[in-house]
Amino acid sequence: MSNPSAPLRIGGAAWLDADAGVAERRDLFMVDGVIAPDDGREAPTLDASGLTALFGLWDCHAHVGSLMYDPGASGYFESASQRTIRAGENMREAATMGVTGIRCLDETDDLDLSWARAYESGSTPGPRVRGAGRALRATGGHGTAFPRTYTRLDVMMICDGPDAMARAVRTQIERGAHWIKIMLTGGLYSPHETADGAQLTHAELASALEVANMRGIPVAAHCGGTRPAIDFSNLGGRSVEHGYMLGEEAADVLARNGTWLVPTIGVTHDQEYIAAEGWPVHAAERSRELMPIHAAALRACIDAGVPIALGADLNPIGPRLHREMEMLESLGLSRRWILHAASVGGRALNGFGPGSLPEPGAAADVILVDGDPLERLDVLRRPRFVVTHGRLVAADGQICWPER
Ligand SMILES: [Zn+2]
Repeated sequence: MSNPSAPLRIGGAAWLDADAGVAERRDLFMVDGVIAPDDGREAPTLDASGLTALFGLWDCHAHVGSLMYDPGASGYFESASQRTIRAGENMREAATMGVTGIRCLDETDDLDLSWARAYESGSTPGPRVRGAGRALRATGGHGTAFPRTYTRLDVMMICDGPDAMARAVRTQIERGAHWIKIMLTGGLYSPHETADGAQLTHAELASALEVANMRGIPVAAHCGGTRPAIDFSNLGGRSVEHGYMLGEEAADVLARNGTWLVPTIGVTHDQEYIAAEGWPVHAAERSRELMPIHAAALRACIDAGVPIALGADLNPIGPRLHREMEMLESLGLSRRWILHAASVGGRALNGFGPGSLPEPGAAADVILVDGDPLERLDVLRRPRFVVTHGRLVAADGQICWPER
């Protein structure tokens, strides 16, 4: 099935509509990467009798090759090609775990964009990827004090002033970025910043958004604070990342403008992971302190009606995205809400439409699982079949290589 246009039929599954929360028998036909009306032509058929079908999961905040937090300094001498291979393996493992879409918000050397093209072409199996290439930050901005400056890799672009910002956005567009990622406020990791303090001037932010919006490229902002989030949203930004300290006022503005939130709740709630990964003391402390504030911000956004998609911001992608979903469940969110945000939400944020049903024309990124995810989210961890771009890419945890 290496031909991108090869048709595929899936019979016998019940489609789980994440909007309505009900499952009904629905046979699927797909060709050229999208769901299509079944015209009866010859096509390989997957027998999915008894399985539940649904749109696959999206990790909307990934850094696919990131070694942050890297206490062993294993990335210090790593080359771009080594990192690219690791990133590809990370994404492929995620696909076997039902992650059919990944939005990568900051990577070196456009490796996310290269993998996106390879997976889409069908030359190698993998998820659908939407990437930002390198993130844009100001001198001294978020990301300055990540654990190490690697010797061979340049992860972010540094831009000071509106002109530099405009040039950087245009450079990223020229390189094929699907998204622009900006570091608008501080975050957890760097000692010299706060999680809500703005790091771009209004003129810099406006410049980035004007150029990106003019070109129809959505902008995602690392943003922990209310004022910066309001500015970003009012200037036409598409998604606020983390939103650690968003208050009700920000939630209302985001909801009114249709600006998304990707909460990445694990970076403040998964203290076990943070301890195991060896985060620096100040970062672990800040994460702990922000935990209840971050949860309240998420709740305010849900109550206000802000559209929400999920992202883990941690590696490896597959296990961490499932953990993110578990943590949201432990915060009291319903499995249906979580499933909707993870699948339909991710698709909508990335421009694949808001639909929760496999209508003709819908991107054919589908998983088939044993059991009902609305009863137990963990049935999503090991799908029987995973389809991306309309091609079977994994079955029972194993990658399905294209026939040559
Ligand atoms: Zn991130």
